[in-house]
Amino acid sequence: MNEYLSKVIEHTQQLNADQPEYMQAVKEVLNSIEPVIERHKEYEECALLERMVEPERCILFRVPWVDDNGKVKVNRGYRIQYSSLIGPYKGGLRFHPSVNLSIMKFLGFEQIFKNALTGLPIGGAKGGSDFDPKGKTDGEIMRFCQSFMTELYRHIGADVDVPAGDIGVGAREIGYLFGQYKRIRDAYEGGVLTGKDISYGGSLARKEATGYGLMFFMREMLSAHNNSLQGKTVTISGSGNVAIYACEKAQAMGAKVVAMSDSNGCIYDENGIDLDCIKEIKEVRRGRIKEYLNTHPEAEYFENTGSHSPVWNIKTDIALPCATQNELNLESAKILVQNGVIAVGEGANMPCTQDATDYLLEHNVLVAPAKAANAGGVATSAIEMSQNSMRFYYTFEEVEAKLEKIMIHIFNECKTASDDFGHHGNYVIGANIAAFQKLASAMIAQGIV
Ligand code: NDP
Repeated sequence: MNEYLSKVIEHTQQLNADQPEYMQAVKEVLNSIEPVIERHKEYEECALLERMVEPERCILFRVPWVDDNGKVKVNRGYRIQYSSLIGPYKGGLRFHPSVNLSIMKFLGFEQIFKNALTGLPIGGAKGGSDFDPKGKTDGEIMRFCQSFMTELYRHIGADVDVPAGDIGVGAREIGYLFGQYKRIRDAYEGGVLTGKDISYGGSLARKEATGYGLMFFMREMLSAHNNSLQGKTVTISGSGNVAIYACEKAQAMGAKVVAMSDSNGCIYDENGIDLDCIKEIKEVRRGRIKEYLNTHPEAEYFENTGSHSPVWNIKTDIALPCATQNELNLESAKILVQNGVIAVGEGANMPCTQDATDYLLEHNVLVAPAKAANAGGVATSAIEMSQNSMRFYYTFEEVEAKLEKIMIHIFNECKTASDDFGHHGNYVIGANIAAFQKLASAMIAQGIV
């Protein structure tokens, strides 16, 4: 391996030995950009990689709040302002008990590459808390969000840092966060958060954007290999924002989605998933996916047991991991390949473990990498920001058309980079190289900062 690259990986490993997810994301990128580093000896002189693997700023704060029984609780809040090279820091907030510094940094790192691929002026960030929204009342969620924003407000702004949603943070949470921000600032600054409800400054099609964008990318990728979604079976992990709208678009494109899941287990409906029922359970009642069986007794339910999710045991043409990081491991990849999978599309961030990705690629499975394939959400957030600046709204169809164009552009960028560097059909490497080249140029242009 290139000496400079291995030196940086080793040093970063020493500095972040306790951060496995972060190191996984860093190694995945650095290992795939070797041919670019070989061509640019000048990167070492300006410590370009060393700067790229160090976030500009990591903010860590206390979030005290009071539950419905009057008990005081304390959670930890994070905001990783990873890079402002090509625009204001931009990236979602995640509320989930697993949140820690390693996960926040891996998500922030991935975000700078993803945002660069969109071609839009947005830097990269991520934030959140180890707060668990499951089982909390509306009042508890509101008080938590208000306390979270009471610290976060001083670090964000429409031209500084623009958070959005992620796991556990949807329209309800964004509403409470925005309300508190507006109250503290005593001003309506719509562009400070994205994923807002339509009633007070949100964009049409933002809710659908990540899932729809994933399917536009899948369509382009399959078409480049003389294939399509028409008549294919699809399995999807998760039943949250990304999963639901990936399912909706997959169905609209003529595919048959047969399975979806949540953190407890998965449902299999060989007749095709009834998405209205999933929306009712997840978006309205905030229930468990198992409840699907109450109205669809012909469907089957498989409980999660070990680290391998049962959703990947189901025979499918296309698998879409849309829940969380490292949810599709080597064992899952082997079963998918054995069952004849042709493509895997990453709706979630880093859902495949490194050995799973390697195994899929070695077995000629097309892999749509998260950085590129799920970038439709943040791209539409940028469209929401521009609408807020213009004080003008686009129609649903206008936003969707812009999203589609962006996803086609992203696919073409990945394809061109993978072809240019002799990795035809490997869009994982293509995405990393395309994004890295853009970030590296901006870094060189802006000097040592
Ligand atoms: P949601 O909170 O809406 O949904 C998350 C889904 O994943 C739920 O079905 C949840 O099940 C499941 N899930 C969460 N954690 C785990 C876990 N540890 N094990 C198994 N299942 C789990 O989140 P989103 O749909 O917004 O996000 C999903 C993924 O997509 C994340 O990786 C996120 O970073 C990524 N992403 C999201 C974007 C967006 O616009 N929302 C944009 C780009 C990427 P349960 O309900 O049981 O917890």
